[in-house]
Amino acid sequence: MRSYATSLLLFGLLAPSRAATVAHDLREEIAARDCCQTLQSQLGPTAVLFPGSAGFQQLVNSYYSAQESEIISQCRVSAHSAQDVSDAIKIITKGGCKFSVRSAGHMTWAGAANIQAPGVAIDLKQMNGVNVSADKKVVSLGPGGSWGPVYDALDPFNITVVGGRSNTVGVGGFILGGGFSNLSPAHGFASDNVVNYEVVLADGRIVNANKTSNPDLFHGLKGGSTNLGIITRYDVNAFPLTPKWGGSRGYNVSQGPAIFDAMIKFIKKLPQEPLGGGSVVWGYSEDLKNDTIFGSFAYLGADATESKAQLFSEMLDVPPTFDTIRTNTDQQWLDSEVDVAFPGGLRRIFSTLTLKVDREIAEGIYRKSHDAFAGLVGKPGVSWTASFQPISITHLQATERAGGTPQGLSPKDGDLILLNLNTVWVEESDDAAMQAAVRDVINWGTKEAKRRNVLHPWLYINYALPDQKVYESYGKANVDALLKIKNKFDPKNTFGKLWKGGFKL
Ligand SMILES: Cc1cc2nc3c(=O)[nH]c(=O)nc-3n(C[C@H](O)[C@H](O)[C@H](O)COP(=O)(O)OP(=O)(O)OC[C@H]3O[C@@H](n4cnc5c(N)ncnc54)[C@H](O)[C@@H]3O)c2cc1C
Repeated sequence: MRSYATSLLLFGLLAPSRAATVAHDLREEIAARDCCQTLQSQLGPTAVLFPGSAGFQQLVNSYYSAQESEIISQCRVSAHSAQDVSDAIKIITKGGCKFSVRSAGHMTWAGAANIQAPGVAIDLKQMNGVNVSADKKVVSLGPGGSWGPVYDALDPFNITVVGGRSNTVGVGGFILGGGFSNLSPAHGFASDNVVNYEVVLADGRIVNANKTSNPDLFHGLKGGSTNLGIITRYDVNAFPLTPKWGGSRGYNVSQGPAIFDAMIKFIKKLPQEPLGGGSVVWGYSEDLKNDTIFGSFAYLGADATESKAQLFSEMLDVPPTFDTIRTNTDQQWLDSEVDVAFPGGLRRIFSTLTLKVDREIAEGIYRKSHDAFAGLVGKPGVSWTASFQPISITHLQATERAGGTPQGLSPKDGDLILLNLNTVWVEESDDAAMQAAVRDVINWGTKEAKRRNVLHPWLYINYALPDQKVYESYGKANVDALLKIKNKFDPKNTFGKLWKGGFKL
């Protein structure tokens, strides 16, 4: 390797700085080949997959967004146990190889949970176990599972967990970032309901983090992204399964202003109703070739007829174009509607803002999005949705009861609205224009919300663009506390240097 770069230099084919880069790239490539070979010899041939093999391609194809599926790593470690992850981390860090970690691969942006060669991908998808404790109070979840199969496994026990609102979304990244669930108004984030994390640290040790063992790490992991450790098991609180009332209602786009009025009234009633939740989604649908608006409704407890009618009354007063609302005990049916509306395999990006409860900013963001994407609609597969999801004060109270979060949210913030701008398209040639339109909306929304004094600084890690300043949004005291935890558990900054993807402290 040295002689190759040196000979290029000697023959004057490369400037010294370029030669140094070439030498560095070659060193990385050789290190990655060594890492993959050592991984294969120690973990076994079926645990380490190489590009071109069917197993490798199957795992790569199972990322949610097309941008993530296009990234081809040097090799892919298909871990089956915490010990596999620990062994892999020891080998990879000894070899100085860059790596990524993925659970179910639903974070949308390129490189969030995948890495281009010479990087090595650690894939937890096979670690998808669901085990219920004897007293049915705690469920142990492998990070690589998805919520649909988790709910299926819990049905026979008549219990549920604070999990995703989509069947395909992953356990690992969802809980790591927080996790908004239909149960959140009553029980907070999914991460508020973790009683124990099993974690692989930067030096390969497998430890538990809970209220008594490594309590600082336990707290940090509720906002730790790819900085503190690789979680190989989440032990979470279980709750009795109750029937759910809910579904979706579509509306004629001319009803948008009426729905937004109703949404604000509904959000203001939420503090009295921790069993209810929902969202309003306004956007452009390629299928309909038009702007579209729909609401999603969820109420836990089918028998509470009066409460739910009172909570959703204004939303239910607006006449729908379709209505799937019903009562059901199946944990998956509400989530199946999300899966149909947001299929995988396409180019996508999520982006986010957090707003105080203000009708004008919400409608303004819809109107700005309509204008920003106007030149793009009609191109292959282009659709976008601005979804407005309440974060009710009862949710933040539950977070506080569970010990608080390093993400800088508190019940003192009052009720909030979380924006998820979800964009989808097909052609790579439209990447730049779609991304520019997204940034235009987010920049406008930030500026306008600030001007109206309705911007809340928090940026939700699971919806954020890669360059949104998620950690800044947690506030300095939280970041300092997280850095202290990071320095204690990864004093050599191994994860900072080698673990790519996610958000870095
Ligand atoms: C269709 C759809 C529906 C969604 N619904 C919801 C919803 O209802 N509520 C909500 O809050 N969010 C929702 N999301 C967002 C979702 O929470 C994030 O995309 C989340 O990251 C998905 O988890 P995953 O396991 O698939 O993540 P991955 O893409 O596998 O990973 C996400 C990030 O976490 C890191 N990571 C993953 N696993 C581990 C681990 N075990 N240890 C350490 N780091 C790890 C990765 O390196 C990566 O940076 C949805 C997303 C989609 C696409």
